[in-house]
Amino acid sequence: MQGTYSQNPHKSEARPEFWQLSMRCCQVAGCVDVAFFFIFLILGSPILAWINVLSVAMYIYAYRAFDRRRNRLAVMLIRTEVLVHAGLGTLLVGWGSGFHYFLLMFIPALFVSMRARSAWILAACLWAYYVGLDALMWYIEPLQPISSNALLGVHIFNLTVVFCMFSYLALFYVVTVTRAHKSLARMATTDSLTGLFNRRHMITLTEKVLARHNRRPSHLTLMLMDIDHFKQINDQYGHDTGDRVLSAVSHLLQCSMREQDFIGRWGGEEFLAVLPDSDLEQATESAERIRSAIQALETDSDLDKIRVTLSIGITQYRAEEPLSHAIARADSALYQGKSAGRNRVVEVA
Ligand code: GH3
Ligand code: MG
Ligand code: MG
Repeated sequence: MQGTYSQNPHKSEARPEFWQLSMRCCQVAGCVDVAFFFIFLILGSPILAWINVLSVAMYIYAYRAFDRRRNRLAVMLIRTEVLVHAGLGTLLVGWGSGFHYFLLMFIPALFVSMRARSAWILAACLWAYYVGLDALMWYIEPLQPISSNALLGVHIFNLTVVFCMFSYLALFYVVTVTRAHKSLARMATTDSLTGLFNRRHMITLTEKVLARHNRRPSHLTLMLMDIDHFKQINDQYGHDTGDRVLSAVSHLLQCSMREQDFIGRWGGEEFLAVLPDSDLEQATESAERIRSAIQALETDSDLDKIRVTLSIGITQYRAEEPLSHAIARADSALYQGKSAGRNRVVEVA
């Protein structure tokens, strides 16, 4: 399944935003063609006016096709409409009408909606059509010419619509890319089960804090926490319930942090918190509060209300030492807490 998906990243299901955008474009293009219907009636070109009625009908049909997830049919209708409309408009009114600009809007749409190779091929066909139309109009006169003032008006109207639609498309792509970038950044830095920072991100953040600390030393404390006998929770209630307990504990830990502190999932049921501007005494007080809060926390299961306890090892960071040394000290404090019976806070200076 994974393989199929990655082999065909341009499958319609992979880009719901693109189809939403296409539906929006149908609405806009339909409204533009309604406007053209009246413009050409006023200009005394009934043929062109009725071509626009046909176009509006095609956009309504394409919109309904998108709504029913018949994306292929909808795209085919839109492509046909734009190609025929731009071609007929140019043949009837002339190159100066600017109907051909609408063909250019296909270019970005091709590349976001299909594989690169198909998009290149269709872009080349589009180029041939565009250049062919341009060349043809060098040799023939428009079949239904309108006055030069009216032609200027149609030209400016077409240019305005194309500018607006391109700007909207550009904005849409920027918003989509920014959103994707944020989502990737979140996935790369957080743990999916608990929502806490993952180990790699914790190391990055902590290294930054240590660098600042080494330039301007102040109190800095590390806290390593481990849920006691967590394996028994899994064994007794199942892994899913274990996950829920882990999430509840993580949430409580996150809520217990001050604004300047940060916490991450260091391992399976192990957490690392970094407390800038906290000396050992202050950190121990916080740790005791956290330990009591976890002890009081209850997670519902089908059978029971589950309670867990937490052992906490605390150490003060020593200027210029590597992070691993401070972690090793916090770990040894944690180990002492485990050996001494668990559910306790142990500090090592
Ligand atoms: P101790 O008090 O000595 O820490 O005992 P413990 O049972 O907590 O420690 P141990 O290292 O023996 O077991 C940790 C357990 O945590 C084993 C592993 O299955 C469980 N665990 C680790 N990550 C997850 C997870 O994401 N979800 C669940 N449900 N369990 C996890
Ligand atoms: Mg444990
Ligand atoms: Mg552990």
